[in-house]
Amino acid sequence: MPGANGYSVLFEPVKIGPVTTRNRFFQVPHCTGLGHVRPQAEAAVRAMKAEGGWSVVSTQETEIHPTSDLGPYAEHRLWDKHDVPALRLMTEQVHAKGSLAAIQLAHNGHHAMNHLTRAPVLGVSDRPIDVVYPKQARAMDKQDIRDLRRWHRDAALRARDAGFDIVYVYAGHQMTLAHHFLLPQYNSRSDEYGGSLQNRVRLTRELLEDTREVLDGHCAVAFRFAVDQMIGTDGMQAGEEGRAVVEMLADLPDLWDVNVADWSNDSQTTRFQPEDGYQLPYTEFVKQVTSKPVVGVGRFTSPDLMASLVSRGVLDLIGAARPSIADPFLPKKIEEGRIEEIRECIGCNICVSADNLGVPIRCTQNPTMGEEWRRKWHPEVIAPKQQEEAVLVVGSGPAGLECAMQLARRGYQVTLAEASGEFGGRVRKESRLKGLSAWKRVADNRLWDLQQRGNVQMFTGSLLTAAEVADLGIPNVFLATGSSWHRDGRGRTSPLALAMGGMPVFTPDDIMDGLLPPTDGPVLLYDDDQGYIGGVLASHLAAADRKVVLATPGAVASAFTELTLEQHRVQADLLQAGVEIIPLHALQSADASGALLSCIYTSRPRRVDCASVLMVTSRQRGTALYDDLTAHHADRFTTLELIGDAAAPGLIADAVFTGHLAARNFERDPEAADADWFRRELISLEDMGGA
Ligand code: ADP
Ligand code: SF4
Repeated sequence: MPGANGYSVLFEPVKIGPVTTRNRFFQVPHCTGLGHVRPQAEAAVRAMKAEGGWSVVSTQETEIHPTSDLGPYAEHRLWDKHDVPALRLMTEQVHAKGSLAAIQLAHNGHHAMNHLTRAPVLGVSDRPIDVVYPKQARAMDKQDIRDLRRWHRDAALRARDAGFDIVYVYAGHQMTLAHHFLLPQYNSRSDEYGGSLQNRVRLTRELLEDTREVLDGHCAVAFRFAVDQMIGTDGMQAGEEGRAVVEMLADLPDLWDVNVADWSNDSQTTRFQPEDGYQLPYTEFVKQVTSKPVVGVGRFTSPDLMASLVSRGVLDLIGAARPSIADPFLPKKIEEGRIEEIRECIGCNICVSADNLGVPIRCTQNPTMGEEWRRKWHPEVIAPKQQEEAVLVVGSGPAGLECAMQLARRGYQVTLAEASGEFGGRVRKESRLKGLSAWKRVADNRLWDLQQRGNVQMFTGSLLTAAEVADLGIPNVFLATGSSWHRDGRGRTSPLALAMGGMPVFTPDDIMDGLLPPTDGPVLLYDDDQGYIGGVLASHLAAADRKVVLATPGAVASAFTELTLEQHRVQADLLQAGVEIIPLHALQSADASGALLSCIYTSRPRRVDCASVLMVTSRQRGTALYDDLTAHHADRFTTLELIGDAAAPGLIADAVFTGHLAARNFERDPEAADADWFRRELISLEDMGGA
C-alpha cells in the first residue's frame, strides 16, 4: 500500500504540461537494439515497464530524417508516415497498461554515419564524423537549418499521430545536432548560431519553440539536456554554461530531463562509479532554476534515496534506464512494500553492449529483458510445474541459482547442492576483485528469493560425486558446475599448451581464491581472453603492490570493454596504476626468468623479465560430473542437463540466461522447444512506394 512503507511521496502524480503522470517513476529514453528493426519486441519491452509501474515509458532516440541514419544500429525511426504504425504499437501497449508514452526525437548530425541512406552528413561545422571512417560532415547552411527545423516539426506531428504524450527535444550525449551546436568543441560557426552562448543555444530554442507550436498543447514537450560533460574546463560545466542554458530556457519546455555527457559518463559502470545517484552533484541545481518538473538519473536503486530526493526537492521524477531494465517491476515492488524482491542493477553495461552490437538488449540481472515478445517471457510470471515433482541443481553460480529459483517458482521440490562453503560461484568470486563488489547482487537477489521458499533445500560444502547424485534418487538433474581457467596458455591465439619452463603460473581462479603472485619481480598478465577480467585482475594486482605487465594480442587492454563503454577508463586506470601495457603481442613460451612474446604482425620476438605469469586465456568446462553420470548412471534420470559455463563458458549474463531457459523449458517437449526457438520479425514484402 502506498503510504504504508514510507515511500508514498514516490506515488504522487506529476503534471507535465498537458499530461499528468500516475507516479514519479520515469523510464527515460534508452536503447534496446530492437527499435525500428524489431518493433513488436520493442513495444513489448516498453509495455512491460508500464505494467511494472513506470508512469512514463520512453522510446530510444528516434531518427527524424534520412540524413540522420544511425544504421546498422537499431534505434527508432520516424522518417515518414510509414514509420508511424511501428511506433503506434508501442504507444497503444503502454497506454493499455496505464502509462504515458514519450518519444525522443533526434537528428544526430555528425554522429550519424548515413551508411544506409548515403545522404551527406550534416554537422554544426565541417568535421570528421564520430566513428572512425574516412568521411566528413559539412557545416549546415541556413537552408539546412530551415530544413532541419521543418523535419523536426514534421516528426513531432507524426509522433503525435502515433499517440505519444510527451515529445522530446534532445541535446545530450554529444550525439545530436542540438547538443553539437551548444558545445564550442564542435561549434566553430561565425554566424548567429555560433560564438556566444546566446547564439549557440539558438537552434535548441528554435526546436523547442517549433515543437511547442506544432503540438499546440496536445503533447508535453520535454527537453533532454546534458548539463555537464565531466571534462572540467575543457567542456560544458554544470556550474557555468550548463546552468546558463537552463536559465535561458527555464520555462520553455514542460519537463527538464537532465544528465551528464557523453554516454560513457551518463552510463558509468559500478566498476568506476559505485555510487547510486552519482549524477546529482551535477544536476541538482536545475530545480532551483526552473519552475517546470525535473527528471534526473544516476543508476538509482535505493528507494530511500529516491524518496529523499523528492522530499528534499532535488527531483520531481525518478529517472531510470538501467534500473528499469534490471527490474521492470521496481515501482510496483516499492509500492507493495516488496523492497527485497527488487533485482538491483549491478552496473555492468551488458545491456549497453547489445546496443553497440546492434542486437536485442540483454541484461545480466534480468534474463527476460528483450525476450518479452520473441519468447513471451514475463519477468514475474512463469508457468507452473507439470507432472514431475523433484529436481536437483548442482552448483550455485549464476546459472544454478537462476535455474533453481525459477524451478522453485514453478512449484518443484528443489535441492541445490554447492561444493564450496558459500553460494554464488563465479559471481561471489569475481565480486571480490577490485571494482566488482556490486556484482554479488546477482547471487544475493536469488539467494534471498530461494530462502523464502518452503520447497527449496540448499546445501553448501556438498561436493557431489556421480554415485552420490545417482543415490539421491532425484530423476531430474541440472548441472551448473561451472568452468575453471586454463593454466597452460591454450586459448584464442594458441590452441595448444605453451611451454612455460620453470615459470610459476597463476590463473584468475587462483587470484580470486586469494593467492597473490610473488613480489620478487613483475607478474606478466597474459590477456589472450581480451574480455573484462584481464583488466580487472591487472588493476587488482596493482592495488596489491604488484608490478604488472599486461601483454595482449589485442590493440588495447580489455578490448571487449569498448562495448560496455569502459575501455578508455580501463586503460587510463591501468596506466595510472603503473601497469605496463604491451599490445599486439602473443605469448610464446617462458623459462625460469622471463617470458617470450612475439609481435602478432611481424613475429618479431620480445623478451619480458618476470617472476610469474598470470594466464588469462580460456576456460575449461566443468563437465566431469556430467560425463560420469551420462557414462554410468544415465538410466537413472529423466533429465540430465548441463547449463551455464559448464555448457559453454561466457558472460555471467549468459549463465543466468541458460539457467532461466532450462527452467522454462523443463517438461516441455524438446522438439517443440527446438522448433519454437523464438519468434522473428520478418521484413514485409509490401510495396511502400514513396513517402
Ligand atoms: P555458472 O557461471 O555456470 O553458474 P560457476 O562457475 O559460477 O558456474 O559456478 C559453478 C559452481 O558449481 C561452483 O560454485 C562450484 O563450486 C560448484 N560445483 C562444481 N562441481 C560441483 C559438484 N560436483 N558438486 C557441487 N557443486 C559443484
Ligand atoms: Fe544493469 Fe547490467 Fe542489467 Fe544493464 S545489464 S541493466 S548494467 S544489470
